[in-house]
Amino acid sequence: MSATPLQARPQPRKLSGLQTQALVIAEIFILAGLYFCVGKFGLSLAFVNASASAVWPPTGLALAALLLRGRRLWPGVFVGAFLVNITTQGSVSTTLGIATGNTLEAVLGAWLVGRFAGGLKVFDRARTIFAFVLLAAMVSTALSAAFGVTSLCLGGFAQWQQYWAVWWTWWLGDMVGALTVTPLLVIWLAQPAVGLTTKQAPEAAGLLLTVVLVGQIVFRGRNPFSDPNAPLGYAALLPLLWAAFRFGPRGAATTAFIASGIALWGTLHGFGPFVKADTNQSLLFVQAFIGTITVAVLVLAAAVAERKRAEHRLQVQDAVSRILADAPTLREATPKVIQALCERAGWELGAIWHVDRAANELSCVEVWHVPWLSVPQFEATTRQRRFPPGIGLPGRVWTSGKPAWVPDVTTDDNFPRAPVAIQEGLHAAFCFPIRLGEDVLGVIECFSREVREPDENFLQMLTPIGSQLGQFIERKQAEESLRVVLRRYAGDLERQVEERTAKLQDTIRSLDGFCYSIAHDLRAPLRALSGFSAELSQQYAEVLDGPGREYLARIKAAAARMDQLILDLLKFGRLNTVELPVETVPLNALVPEVLEPLEDQIKTQRAEVRLRQPLLPVRANAVVVEQVLTNLLDNALKFVPPSTPPQVEVWTEPRNGMVRLCVRDNGIGIKAEYLKKLFQPFARLVDGTEFPGTGIGLAIVRKGVERMGGRVGVESQVGQGSCFWVELPGEQSVEA
Ligand code: ADP
Repeated sequence: MSATPLQARPQPRKLSGLQTQALVIAEIFILAGLYFCVGKFGLSLAFVNASASAVWPPTGLALAALLLRGRRLWPGVFVGAFLVNITTQGSVSTTLGIATGNTLEAVLGAWLVGRFAGGLKVFDRARTIFAFVLLAAMVSTALSAAFGVTSLCLGGFAQWQQYWAVWWTWWLGDMVGALTVTPLLVIWLAQPAVGLTTKQAPEAAGLLLTVVLVGQIVFRGRNPFSDPNAPLGYAALLPLLWAAFRFGPRGAATTAFIASGIALWGTLHGFGPFVKADTNQSLLFVQAFIGTITVAVLVLAAAVAERKRAEHRLQVQDAVSRILADAPTLREATPKVIQALCERAGWELGAIWHVDRAANELSCVEVWHVPWLSVPQFEATTRQRRFPPGIGLPGRVWTSGKPAWVPDVTTDDNFPRAPVAIQEGLHAAFCFPIRLGEDVLGVIECFSREVREPDENFLQMLTPIGSQLGQFIERKQAEESLRVVLRRYAGDLERQVEERTAKLQDTIRSLDGFCYSIAHDLRAPLRALSGFSAELSQQYAEVLDGPGREYLARIKAAAARMDQLILDLLKFGRLNTVELPVETVPLNALVPEVLEPLEDQIKTQRAEVRLRQPLLPVRANAVVVEQVLTNLLDNALKFVPPSTPPQVEVWTEPRNGMVRLCVRDNGIGIKAEYLKKLFQPFARLVDGTEFPGTGIGLAIVRKGVERMGGRVGVESQVGQGSCFWVELPGEQSVEA
């Protein structure tokens, strides 16, 4: 048993030196007695020589005893072997030789198994079982056979020419004894007994019945062939396969032992496929058969158990990985991880502890237990406790950095919560570190209400889970610090944007003021210009000749255009900054109002303006909508060939919560390449004398509409008229 993971296992109650010696002597006597009895049974089946039997279970007994209780019990083997042989035949010296061989066999076997085949865990893995077969069952037994047969020949109790025949019987008997008895004893006595579940019990009963039935058919002659020696030996393997698959190494070793007993008994009574004229030969055959099937099913059972353990381990790891992959924070992950561990591995309560570096102690982060468990005191104590390094189960694991298992915390001498555990009936516990490289970040412990012997495979699985958790914690901490940095940057950025926006707004405001005063200053000389030219044309008209009057008219027109331009520019500039409160604007009322001042022009041009009712209302600023409509209608009436009476149509259509207002004319149209430029300030595509204007109207339209959350567009072809549209939020969009 490996020492590291099990270091938290409580030491058995300390015995005094004398008590230990007394115990060992008692064990030696018991072993000697058992060896003697089993040996007598073996020698009762000795046919080739009174001292050499093909059936020798004492080998298995001695090997198991030395493996389980230590090689110091060897005198028990020696005494037992001596007594069983001296009471059978032979001199003292011959018997001493035989007993020496038997003892060496057991001591060497136990040492080889301890050194090369996993010690008491020998039957857990296929690899160690093969090592056992080779080293303990085949090599060390050869030693006993050599000692025994040589002693017999030297003492004159066997003929030298019989040497190999006797040796062969001896060796096979010992080997099969080791193969059948040792696994049975080691598996049953070294590993914690697990009761059968209610589901397994009937199956186990069925299996036993089948073993006996098949035994009856094969080794009692009760077969349909009416042949007591029908060659049906292979059939005995079937129930053993069942046992190996469903009941693990324990079930396999047990059923193999029972089947061996039946096979031996039947063969001795003349039944079964291995019966020959010579009884010893029959026994050799049946023993070879027993040895073979036992090894086969033990290996199979170990392989199945290994696979099940691996599957289980993967399931737990998979569950933990999934939780860690999905969990956004450590706080959310921890109770789920404990729950997954407890539920999948059959534990009832779990707690996670965090290493508080500043205080140099462990503090509990979270406790979880199965819903039906009620341990309020233990839970409360665990939540409040703090453990310095080395103290309590968590403290010990923190210090060692390795998983630990305590079969029963109530008898552990380093478990300060023991009184509460006793009170509320908690016993077994395991604990493992959450590690990041060499650092222990915390520990997780789980408890059960049962006393449980350490499961080393399970403990091994905990190490990678601990590292996984450590990496998760590191990742989350990195994410958190990144978030903090990002938040700080975002805050800085926002502040900078606010400061710069405020500065920009200041600049715009001062520019507005500047523009306004320039415009104001520019309009004063313009007013003088138009005032004096009006005076000039009134009072000095007859003094001026034709070209003089013409020049004067041009000066007046230019001054008026300049004034209009300044006014338009002021309007456009104001749209940038002025607040635009929004209200419901009823277009069916507003459009006629806008058309009113244009009525003279409409009449003069014999224009026709058609409103396609109903005109839907929009959510917008009424003043800006009026400006927009004025510009669009003005253009629609203006940009028509001189001889053509303008035909203008105005309508609205709903569009995904917006309202599109369209103004279509039959005017000169616009070339495709100019459509995009139209809405920029000063974009004029026509001759100023034919179509007067400043080139700012559509720029005002776009700026105003966009500030109200809408957009503008135009569809047009040269000579085919144009359709200008603006989209503004409709009434529904506000409700939505
Ligand atoms: P203005 O009307 O003062 O020239 P606008 O910004 O309103 O300035 O229009 C810019 C230019 O777009 C116009 O000069 C004209 O070339 C073209 N335009 C605008 N409306 C129409 C229209 N309905 N039909 C044809 N051309 C148009």
